[in-house]
Amino acid sequence: MLTSGGDAPGMNAALRAVVLAAEHYDMEVIAFRHGYEGLLDNEYLSLKAADVLHVLQYSGTIIKSARCPRFKEVAAAQLAAENLDALGLSALVVIGGDGSFRGAEHLSQYWQGQIIGVPGTIDNDLYGTDATIGYATAVAIAMDALDKIRDTADAMDRVFIVEVMGRHAGFIGLSSAMAAGAERMILPELQRDKPLTVAALVKHIKRVEAVRGPGSYVMVLSEHQWPGGAVALSEQLEAEFDMPCRPCLLGHIQRGGAPAPSDRILASQLGVHAIELILQGATRVMAGIKANQMVAVPLVDTWTKKNPLDENLLRIQHEIFNPVKKSASK
Ligand code: ADP
Repeated sequence: MLTSGGDAPGMNAALRAVVLAAEHYDMEVIAFRHGYEGLLDNEYLSLKAADVLHVLQYSGTIIKSARCPRFKEVAAAQLAAENLDALGLSALVVIGGDGSFRGAEHLSQYWQGQIIGVPGTIDNDLYGTDATIGYATAVAIAMDALDKIRDTADAMDRVFIVEVMGRHAGFIGLSSAMAAGAERMILPELQRDKPLTVAALVKHIKRVEAVRGPGSYVMVLSEHQWPGGAVALSEQLEAEFDMPCRPCLLGHIQRGGAPAPSDRILASQLGVHAIELILQGATRVMAGIKANQMVAVPLVDTWTKKNPLDENLLRIQHEIFNPVKKSASK
């Protein structure tokens, strides 16, 4: 087993579940430290139930995660295969996001053992599962921050731009905006369709004020969706339109703290599912969940196909909850 790529709250709960399920079925678990780096450097340890009993309440990963650019090379996958064979391992569980799954698929070209992915990423951007481990916690943290920003924004009748993670997918942006009642969202999916201009944003802010009277205006910005991010956008609003505005960057705060109950439970289910998939002889699949059913999704599908944003949530947040009617914003 290894945890790889960007860490996600609930990774510890997932690796705990893998170890407990493995012991239940009389299997032994070795954990490689620092993701694929540990696999290449033979940095590993044996994990028993006693080692993982009380780790599920912590974010991060006790076996460490890392990025490992050299793993993309053929020689690296071949070396990893040799190391896995030398240890007599029959299966590898990779807990991570789409990059880690690409790495797993790459390894599968050179190694005959079973490979199972467990979706551990705050971005929720893996096809084939209703949720990824860490997403619920990231949304809860973003919502909590937005609530706090609202207090001060309301007191000062101020515009705030809160930058959240999710550069390729707007799941965190949309969900946190809805959960906290934000006035506006800039998400990758919306930017792709119709990029927002500063002038259009100012128009919206002014129209909201005209409809509701003076008050706060809180905007959720997904990272990498504006050149220079929330800081640059707020400077533009101030400099070009004389509109006082404050940026707030949540950054890696979204990956820490106590994992949400739903992430701990999801991680527990999927970790056990991964071990049961191994027993069933499965390989090159991700352990996922769809409508409360455990599913096995071909690894390649997880990044080649896309889970779209929930159209209904988008419609509600963007249209129904928008104080400015569509006809007025043209
Ligand atoms: P995440 O799993 O969170 O999406 P990354 O995209 O950083 O994180 O990927 C984690 C690691 O997976 C990379 O550092 C690399 O070791 C491996 N990886 C990513 N893409 C590939 C690829 N195309 N081929 C082989 N390994 C890859």
